[in-house]
Amino acid sequence: MKAGVEPLVNDGFAGEATKRTLGYLQKQREKGKNIVGIYCSYAPLELIRAANAAPAVLCAFANKTIEAAETVLPANLCPLIKSSYGFIKTDTCPFFAISEAVIAETTCDGKKKMFELISHIKPMHVMDLPQLPDQQEALNNWTAMVKKLKGFLETTFNRKIDDKDVEQEIKETNVKNRLMNAVFDFAALTPTPLSWLELYDLTYLGQAATTGDMIALLNECIVKLEKRVAEGVYHGEKNSPRVLVTGCPVGGDATKVFKVIEEAGGVIVALDSCTGMKPFAGSLEENTSDPYAAVARRYLDIPCSCMTPNTSRLTELDKMIERFNPDVVIDVILHACHSYNIESHKIKEHITGKHKMPFLKIETDYSQSDAGQIRTRVEALLEMVHKK
Ligand code: SF4
Ligand code: SF4
Repeated sequence: MKAGVEPLVNDGFAGEATKRTLGYLQKQREKGKNIVGIYCSYAPLELIRAANAAPAVLCAFANKTIEAAETVLPANLCPLIKSSYGFIKTDTCPFFAISEAVIAETTCDGKKKMFELISHIKPMHVMDLPQLPDQQEALNNWTAMVKKLKGFLETTFNRKIDDKDVEQEIKETNVKNRLMNAVFDFAALTPTPLSWLELYDLTYLGQAATTGDMIALLNECIVKLEKRVAEGVYHGEKNSPRVLVTGCPVGGDATKVFKVIEEAGGVIVALDSCTGMKPFAGSLEENTSDPYAAVARRYLDIPCSCMTPNTSRLTELDKMIERFNPDVVIDVILHACHSYNIESHKIKEHITGKHKMPFLKIETDYSQSDAGQIRTRVEALLEMVHKK
């Protein structure tokens, strides 16, 4: 963002999503909330909040802990899993340290097996995630898992979770998601008044913060963004190529890809991943006879590549393309993430076929060694669409 423009979030941690979120969680802990570590967008946040707890995201994005992780884990494993495990092995993860329990899901094989290695450290509850989301049994089974999680949280924290509280959390999530999407709508403008870093910061904090705090913050952001638009403040150049980034979760050291895109003259207008807009898509059904089934339905709709078939990823991408009007799509795949890597072929055919849009797949990890090669490929891609 250009110098002199008021940041969207004023707390001294601008651009440091993890520090801001950690500080926030520490304050929540002091206020008496329990902290529950989570590893995935499938973790049902409404139940965690209804148990008077706050979620701490334990997925890690730093290269520095990978060497320690590789003393136990194979080197040819996804860096997200290695980094997350490495932080625990070296006892340096402040989010894990303040977590009193951990919720895990059977998503990809690497995560599932890594959970076994850490399950003795803190109370851990593994949810069996059905992976054929279109089948009726999937919803029934996942609803059963959501109800089992309720039992785990009640036992661990010795507190009853009331159905009314879950219903209230459903309603609050819907309000928060609507506001988050009102912020995303500004990214859809041409030129866009906010940067990828601001989007990333907000979505990172948005997982951990209480709905009430987030609603207040998002309302402030909307006022600031309206002011930016009124004053003609925008990010990048008016004719910058607009980029939609999809694929694996990207954070920390992997944001080198986002930095390269910007340095190459692109503007990222949509972040379609679990560290971006995906967790805030859709809504939960309100006022049903079974709020746990309503929670299960919403989470089962998340289009992760661990699902088969994962057709809703294509329909969600169509909606994002219509909404954010990108010129190119970049699919970021973390090394050894087989499911996103294999799915990338289908995404490419969809983007270049149906949407007639340039597409680039970038396979990377958390080291900086490939930054130059990524730069060359991104520059060539953006050159194809650069608007005069
Ligand atoms: S990409 Fe899939 S496995 Fe990873 S956090 Fe998202 S939903 Fe979970
Ligand atoms: S990026 Fe892929 S391999 Fe890594 S944790 Fe997520 S789903 Fe698993």
